[in-house]
Amino acid sequence: MQSVLTGRAPAPVPHVRDREDFALRGLILCPDCDKPVTASRSTGKLGNKFGYYRCHRVKGHMNVGAGTIEAAFIELLERLVPKPERMALIKRVFAKCGTDGDRQRGLRRCHTNEN
Ligand SMILES: [Zn+2]
Repeated sequence: MQSVLTGRAPAPVPHVRDREDFALRGLILCPDCDKPVTASRSTGKLGNKFGYYRCHRVKGHMNVGAGTIEAAFIELLERLVPKPERMALIKRVFAKCGTDGDRQRGLRRCHTNEN
């Protein structure tokens, strides 16, 4: 309204990428051409939005729902987290190496104990 009255052009609206919706944008590679796929959104019959990661290079290449990809990614992350019992061992090893006062000597002793 203001712009009509003053004759000024409306302030440009910055282009906001919906990165929140596509956290893995740029990280997912098409399994067929090994190039990053694009993330886009489609509107379903009921007006609900669906996110997709798809290869725009070749028809018939990757076209997977964002939910599927993200669930697989979370599964991968969970596999990378050390198990609690391993975490206890890791903490013990570091604690042992640090008790000596002389860090270098302590580390060396840990290495020799390891083998
Ligand atoms: Zn492809």
